[in-house]
Amino acid sequence: MAVQSVGVVGAGQMGNGIAHVFAVAGFDVLLNDISQESLDKAVSLIDRNIERQVSRGKLTPEEKTAAMRRIRTTLKLADLGACDLVIESATEREAVKQAIFEDLLPHLKPETILSSNTSSISITRLASRTDRPEKFMGFHFMNPVPVMQLVELIRGIATDEETYRTLCEVVERLGKTSASSEDFPAFIVNRILMPMINEAVYTLYEGVGNVKSIDESMKLGANHPMGPLELADFIGLDTCLAIMNVLHEGLADTKYRPCPLLTKYVEAGWLGRKAGRGFYDYRGETPVPTR
Ligand code: NAD
Repeated sequence: MAVQSVGVVGAGQMGNGIAHVFAVAGFDVLLNDISQESLDKAVSLIDRNIERQVSRGKLTPEEKTAAMRRIRTTLKLADLGACDLVIESATEREAVKQAIFEDLLPHLKPETILSSNTSSISITRLASRTDRPEKFMGFHFMNPVPVMQLVELIRGIATDEETYRTLCEVVERLGKTSASSEDFPAFIVNRILMPMINEAVYTLYEGVGNVKSIDESMKLGANHPMGPLELADFIGLDTCLAIMNVLHEGLADTKYRPCPLLTKYVEAGWLGRKAGRGFYDYRGETPVPTR
């Protein structure tokens, strides 16, 4: 099936990036949110981010104009009914996602592929509550979407081969690379990344190293572009904790237990960059380690 029109539900951090990359790749995009303010913010952010690509010589001004013209917004979910592919990227709460699918289903064409950008909710379970589990997939983008090369494709137990192949082609048209993951907690990237971050927090908690020595060790000793604590601040410590809880509960293995110090930072509201403070304090000119 050839996908041309794409509906994106949720115009937040991820939804605007998804709309951006699809529009630049030549797809028609219809972006939906419950808040007009989110839609307006998303469109102006996309405009700014594409403009940055123009100033770096990655896109021409004409390509930018064409991409921006391909993006339309709507507050009415039903308007997405005619899209070939719908990507749900709303708030990470199962009840929110389920309500979106329930409202959307009566309006969808039978051949429309339905997907979710969820980081942690079971694709099989989300799919089972729709009328098309065979045409339902996990479509997991990385943050920030325009920058990151990888997209994880997650097949639920019922997803058919045609749906999977169609989304592989879509990823190629985006100029990105897909990795196929089975539908188990946190998929591949977060399954490996989050326990490493959690172990870095344990290393701090047990006093083996301080923030600076842990981050420097992994940058200079393992060639990581960012230290694990710096990366945790970038992702958001609440998100890191939520994913560790998903692994801990979903796999019932104590090796995934979240570090009490990570929980403590979240309790303090020190959630990382977005809160101005996490393992580093970002309120001054340069980030200062908090431990
Ligand atoms: P966000 O909070 O930035 O945005 C969520 C948006 O969804 C908001 O604009 C909100 O108004 C909107 N929304 C809420 N209910 C809605 C509804 N019923 N209909 C339409 N829109 C609705 O969140 P985000 O970081 O963009 O995350 C979105 C999804 O992407 C989540 O499933 C998350 O797990 C996943 N994800 C996030 C990241 C990340 O690093 N942030 C990475 C990969 C995947």
